[in-house]
Amino acid sequence: MTKTIAVCGAGTMGAGIAQVAATGGFTTILFDIAPAMLDRAKAQIEKSLALAVEKNRMTPEKRDEILQRLTFTSTIEDCVADVIIEAIIEKPEAKTTLFNQLAVFNAPDTIFATNTSSLSVSRIAAAIEVNPARVVGMHFFNPAHAMKLVEVISGKQTAPEVAESIYILAEQMGKTPVRVKDSPGFIVNRVARHYYLEAMKIAEQGIADFSAIDQLMEGAGFRMGPFALMDLIGNDINLAVSQSLYDAFNHAPRFKPNHLQEQRVKDGKLGRKTGLGFYRYEK
Ligand code: NAD
Repeated sequence: MTKTIAVCGAGTMGAGIAQVAATGGFTTILFDIAPAMLDRAKAQIEKSLALAVEKNRMTPEKRDEILQRLTFTSTIEDCVADVIIEAIIEKPEAKTTLFNQLAVFNAPDTIFATNTSSLSVSRIAAAIEVNPARVVGMHFFNPAHAMKLVEVISGKQTAPEVAESIYILAEQMGKTPVRVKDSPGFIVNRVARHYYLEAMKIAEQGIADFSAIDQLMEGAGFRMGPFALMDLIGNDINLAVSQSLYDAFNHAPRFKPNHLQEQRVKDGKLGRKTGLGFYRYEK
């Protein structure tokens, strides 16, 4: 039974995942190599819970309980847990190195869940030295504290009971899990890729500007326009996902990353997290 969860990476996704884990009643450890990201995540979680209290969606006692279940650390050895959810950069080597480091001081049956948006779960598992059957995809959506959907991805090696534990865990966190096969971008990111890429093509062809395209798509019923959504996701992450799908589909032109996103990443215009992306954001 899952009691303790360690979330690795305290960025856009990790902070939200830690919040839902602690809200779900689990002792939660949030780890990041960058202490500044931990401070930022802590402030973000406190702000989100304060808002829930203010709107009478949560009692102050419940908020305090949630905060007591959460610890923040930049020491990897503190990440001893029943389930580890990694939400670090979208690079396979970084993820497998992290899991192999964690394997040294965690039990062999500690589940290693990856929040990857696009990388092959089987490929990650293949690089895990101890018990690759414990590797599974647990793909949350942004913002993690609010979005209900979680894709649960079984790789070739994933033990059925591991996928089942993660499915149940997602439900215990108040989420709606859906079982998905391991294929490039899974379901949502593969379909949504064209939302971003086609919108960027329209903008670069001068047919309409970012805000006009966003306005039109929102008017057509989409919750967020493509450019506002890319800024929320992070242009570095979104580019990494485009690149990963492009590679996985043998450079099919329909998945080709767009220079508008490449240029923004080069310039450090990553979106909301840096205050500048397709749009400018107040701190
Ligand atoms: P982010 O850039 O906001 O945060 C990544 C964090 O990981 C940073 O705080 C960084 O300091 C930390 N980090 C990097 N290497 C580390 C390591 N070895 N150990 C511990 N911490 C480390 O990224 P994000 O947007 O939160 O994305 C994280 C993962 O979640 C990616 O795999 C991404 O594909 C996936 N994801 C992102 C979104 C999204 O909308 N941003 C949605 C679903 C899934």
